[in-house]
Amino acid sequence: MAFDLDMIKKVYDRYSTRVDAARKATGKHLTLTEKILYAHLSEGDADKAFGRGVDYVDFAPDRVAMQDATAQMALLQFMQAGRPQVAVPSTVHCDHLIQAKIGADVDLQTAKDVNLEVYDFLASVSDKYGIGFWKPGAGIIHQVVLENYAFPGGMMIGTDSHTPNAGGLGMIAIGVGGADACDVMAGLPWELKFPKLIGVNLTGKLSGWASAKDVILKVAGILTVKGGTGAIVEYFGEGARSLSATGKGTICNMGAEIGATTSIFGYDEKAATYLKGTKRGEIADLADAIAEHLTGDEEVYANPAQYFDEVIEINLDELEPHVNGPFTPDLAWPISKFAAAVKENGWPTKLEVGLIGSCTNSSYEDITRSASIAKQATDKHLKTKAEFTITPGSELVRYTVERDGYLGTFEEMGGVVLANACGPCIGQWARHTDDPTRKNSIITSFNRNFAKRQDGNPNTHAFVASPEIVTAFAIAGDLTFNPLTDTLTNDKGEQVKFDEPEGIEMPLKGYAVQDAGYQAPAEDGSAVSVIVDPKSARLQLLEPFKAWEGTDLTGLKLLIKAKGKCTTDHISMAGPWLKFRGHLDNISNNMLIGAINYFNLTADSVKNELTGEYGPVPATQRDYKANGIGTIVVGDENYGEGSSREHAAMEPRHLGVRAILVKSFARIHETNLKKQGMLGITFADTADYDKIQEDDTFDITGLTTFAPGKQLTVVLHHKDGSTESFPVNHTYNAQQIEWFKAGGALNIIRKQMAS
Ligand code: SF4
Repeated sequence: MAFDLDMIKKVYDRYSTRVDAARKATGKHLTLTEKILYAHLSEGDADKAFGRGVDYVDFAPDRVAMQDATAQMALLQFMQAGRPQVAVPSTVHCDHLIQAKIGADVDLQTAKDVNLEVYDFLASVSDKYGIGFWKPGAGIIHQVVLENYAFPGGMMIGTDSHTPNAGGLGMIAIGVGGADACDVMAGLPWELKFPKLIGVNLTGKLSGWASAKDVILKVAGILTVKGGTGAIVEYFGEGARSLSATGKGTICNMGAEIGATTSIFGYDEKAATYLKGTKRGEIADLADAIAEHLTGDEEVYANPAQYFDEVIEINLDELEPHVNGPFTPDLAWPISKFAAAVKENGWPTKLEVGLIGSCTNSSYEDITRSASIAKQATDKHLKTKAEFTITPGSELVRYTVERDGYLGTFEEMGGVVLANACGPCIGQWARHTDDPTRKNSIITSFNRNFAKRQDGNPNTHAFVASPEIVTAFAIAGDLTFNPLTDTLTNDKGEQVKFDEPEGIEMPLKGYAVQDAGYQAPAEDGSAVSVIVDPKSARLQLLEPFKAWEGTDLTGLKLLIKAKGKCTTDHISMAGPWLKFRGHLDNISNNMLIGAINYFNLTADSVKNELTGEYGPVPATQRDYKANGIGTIVVGDENYGEGSSREHAAMEPRHLGVRAILVKSFARIHETNLKKQGMLGITFADTADYDKIQEDDTFDITGLTTFAPGKQLTVVLHHKDGSTESFPVNHTYNAQQIEWFKAGGALNIIRKQMAS
């Protein structure tokens, strides 16, 4: 069976003790977020003072989930750890690489052909190391996790931004980079900055057209895309308890759009119903036994302002359906104001495509509510004006809604059912259009709507709404239509109006599926071989990085002195490079190509000291490497900001860069560099950045006595024969210095596993 009851029992066994200790340590009542975080502090950090005064804390998550695009490098790295099995239950989900073009069956088969080597690798590596493998077509990571693995009071990390979806079932679920997933699978603790707490008090009850999606669309309007940064959003109140577990999942999922670390709801009857409905009644029984700990303390919810950094009140009785967009998910329009906004802003009123489903909104409830609108189109003799697609979130949901006749209802109104995969949501959409230069409008029930996200076309104005609103708009084909108040003209020339949508929270006949698409790993994977074609352009097994040579670094050349912003995207660009994310050598050809060279203010053009010529950064670095010459990268403030991308740390390491010297680091990138055994140092005096000249040769001294808090020295040998030196800082602790010496954290784990 997919979920791991023993693991959940262990989590619950320690839960009460930890929560009581937290109350004692803090002398106050606790939010749900605090309880779960405290219950998951890693052993080493359990004695740390608890509370928001603490900065970075080590946690021990219960699970890891990975989608197929990000899993590749995470698992290639994990293989380096030398473990026979993953340290915590983990799963891989094949969902991101399936392009939507014709329809579910054809598209799925095409994806299996095109991505065969990636799927073979992921299936075999999962089989070997005890990882659950969800095949292409099984569904989208977050929906599959909600149906199978999420549990109240748990903690999970996932290599995808919408991992917080599992918060709908009361789990702290956080999106991370592949390096973090690798660490947790390898048995290392996972570090998180202790979050701020935002409380959302939901009063009243949804009715009519308003849905859970409208809660998060409204919250996004209030908090904006940045308002949740560094915070966990905790929902509570009678309104929260009235929402279905899948509706809560939708709200938590889209918490990523306000930048929140994650979002969460407490355990309640709706959660228990969903657990039982998805054949996990044992978990509901276990949760019932500690139910008081799986929600915030009563005193907290009675006086939220005392316990949360920020409190938002939303009355569900008054909540209007919303449409958010275009180009950003926080531009929130109540439906009554939307038509005017469309006209005032000159957005294209003709709606070309309506798309429902995705990991955000494809529950049984979503599908039945939308189908109730679709059925009205047929019953009321309305022709659907826009294209309409349905992306089921999982095979479980797809099979069940097909059995119950809802897919047929959509097909009757002209809808096309796509594969159970990300498809159009992530731009895997071969959209048919006669003129891509035309400004056009689409509306989806997905979560993100930044320019080009769905179809790569900057002229597409994408709006986000609930699936039932999307369905109504698709039928009308007009963005100025308000399904709550307006009429449409049907085939007979009559004016007809939609009735309110009606949905069913859980299938009356229960969920059903013939083949969920799950492959359990081998009990003993020692004889399983991981399949990687040595000639593959997309996958490459990793070699362990070399250990430090035990001496100071001397004679380094300057690869680049980067000026201004240098994010992980400048260091390792995305876009077309993503297809190489499982092949370190190939993707390294994008290393630092976005960084601006201080000396010529040009991207991807640096001086090769061996030839005197200017050339691309990766090629120049490869030349130094071929000649056995180490290099240094110099950077400005907040070097490595942006999404955590392990490639940004691995590529310089792979190509032979020995040190990164900057005015300041973005913390996550700095940690990623340390994990790869790279030397990351900062100017003690940022003015020393100006001393770096293009033709300098560098020594870094003090490494033989490398110690926490002890400065190192950089010596510059200028071309004119003069030298100067200055101190540099580092933040390596004793453990991280061992990583540096061993050539990377995984080298240490491998050694430990071997001994
Ligand atoms: S459906 Fe969209 S948001 Fe969900 S996991 Fe896939 S790409 Fe991400």
